[in-house]
Parts: sequence; C-alpha cells; structure tokens
Amino acid sequence: MTVADLTERELVARIQQQLAPPPSWLTVGIGDDAAVVENERNRVEVLTVDALIDGVHFDRRFTPPTAIGHRALAVNLSDLAAMGATPRLALLSLALPATLTCEEFDGVISGIATEAMAHRLTVAGGNLTRTPGPLTIDITAIGTAKRRGVLTRSGARPGDLIYVSGAIGAAAAGLDMLRTGAATPSEACVFRYLRPSARVRLGQMLGRNRAASACIDLSDGLADGVSRIADASGVGMTVDADALPIEPEARRWFEDQGLDPVVAALGGGDDYELLFTVRPRQRGRLRAAFQQGGVPLTKIGVCTPDTRCVLRTAAGDVPFPSGFSHFR
Ligand SMILES: [Mg+2]
Repeated sequence: MTVADLTERELVARIQQQLAPPPSWLTVGIGDDAAVVENERNRVEVLTVDALIDGVHFDRRFTPPTAIGHRALAVNLSDLAAMGATPRLALLSLALPATLTCEEFDGVISGIATEAMAHRLTVAGGNLTRTPGPLTIDITAIGTAKRRGVLTRSGARPGDLIYVSGAIGAAAAGLDMLRTGAATPSEACVFRYLRPSARVRLGQMLGRNRAASACIDLSDGLADGVSRIADASGVGMTVDADALPIEPEARRWFEDQGLDPVVAALGGGDDYELLFTVRPRQRGRLRAAFQQGGVPLTKIGVCTPDTRCVLRTAAGDVPFPSGFSHFR
C-alpha cells in the first residue's frame, strides 16, 4: 500500500496518532484551516524553515525513513539552538511521491514525532500534497527566547575566543561510508550522519547566560561557519588546526581515503555542532554551558582585527579551506 491509496484525511489521522497530545496554549491545532497559539509572555519568537529533498539532502537508498524524519526536524532545531531559542512548535509541509509506501510514510512521521517529543516541541499543523517529484519535507520551526538572550552571528569582536561543541567531521565521514558502501563503516560516524543531535540545551544555556557574543550552527562545515561569523561580525579569525576536535574514527577514514583529515573535516557538512565566540572576560559564564549543555566544548582559536580567516598549522598560517556549497 502506498500513500496514493489513502485520502489526505487518512494521512493526517496517521500523523496525529503518532504525536503527543497538544498543550493548552495551542488553542486551535491540527484539523482547522490554521493553528492558533497563545503567546509566551516576555519572550520573542524565533522562526526558521528548512526543506529536505530526496536526492539533494538525503538518499532513500541508504537513509531509513525514521532517520529522514529525524534529520528534517533536527536541522531546524539546530537553527533554533544557534539563536539561543527554546523550541516550541513546528508546521510540516510534506510533498509525497505516489510510490512512497505507507510504511515509509509512517517511518518519516515517527522520526519527526520522536524528535519533537525529545525536545518538547508541538506539531501545530501543516500541509500534505502529492508530487510528481522527489519526497520533500519542509518544516517551519518556531522557538522563543528572552529578548536579550537571542544569539546572532554578528556580535564577535577582535580578541573574542572561538569555541566549537562536540566533534566535527563524523557526519561527513559517515555519509561517505554509506555512499561508497564501506565494508566496515564506523557506527559512530554513520549514526552522527543519520541522526544528528541538535545542540538545543547548549544553545539555550549560551543565550540565557549571555555567554556567547556570536553563534552559528554548523550545517555546511566549520570552515563555512567561521567565514560566516567573521563576515557578519566584521572580524578575522585564526583557528588552531591542532586544537580542532576531529572525531577520531572520521580522522582515520579520511586518512585511509588519502585525504587531509583537517581539510576534510573543515569542509564536510552536517556536523550540526555550535560554533560560537566568547569575550575573554566572560569565560566564567561558560561554566553553566559546560555543566548543563550536555556536550564537550573546545577552544579552537581567536578573533582578530583584520578580516582574514586563517588556519594556524605547524607549517605556518594558511587561508581557510572553503566550506560546502549547494550552489557551487
Ligand atoms: Mg543555520
């Protein structure tokens, strides 16, 4: 049975079955023409939208339906985390090819619903459509933050320290392993690609304590994140190659492929870690983020007054390798 055998109402009912019961602030939820939401007092809203398209952002040949759903929501949660926001609700827009089986459809929804529950995010509504094209999952996510707790890319100043959460390179290596059908893929790397963990708690802590002067989430590689914060803030950045927290199993994979692990990790996408800057005098504010952010933090460099981004290596300073681009 495929989604073409069901009516839109039946598909919506299948979605609702998997979602948590709606909270009281959702005055009108799924099933009406639009959702109605009670505002949170003294908080601003943070809005983001991101689409995942089969063949562009994922490949159904090696991405299970639940992982597709998980990723589709996680990339949006990661954008909210980068802004210091607490996730609140989401709208789903799904374009379904007639060949999608009901089992696959349920899997995608299960991935979304599980990730939503993990972050106490409510699916408030959405839209379903048939498509002659590829499976497309477009999610709008809305979070809230205290006005002064919003993080942007533009607040870095010369002298600010640069930090990154978790480890980089694992997802890019994992995707490589899946694509090339590696005989013994690293479970850690593959998992990191299929089920990225948006650093929601860390983003909240950085915003709440006003610990970070600028922040971005890494969707297209650390090199891309560095240049975006530098551009938006009007600073340069010097990053220490030896300090980069490259996932050890990813490093091994890149080396086995004859690649420079630093270049591969800097250019590889899908890390969904947070890259942020901190005023040296406010490093004490990082303590709560360290303790409650649920992920290690690594200092990787410093912001500079000129606007160049350089990588400091044993052989000297080199210009930053460029990040991944969908439009190249
Ligand atoms: Mg982003």
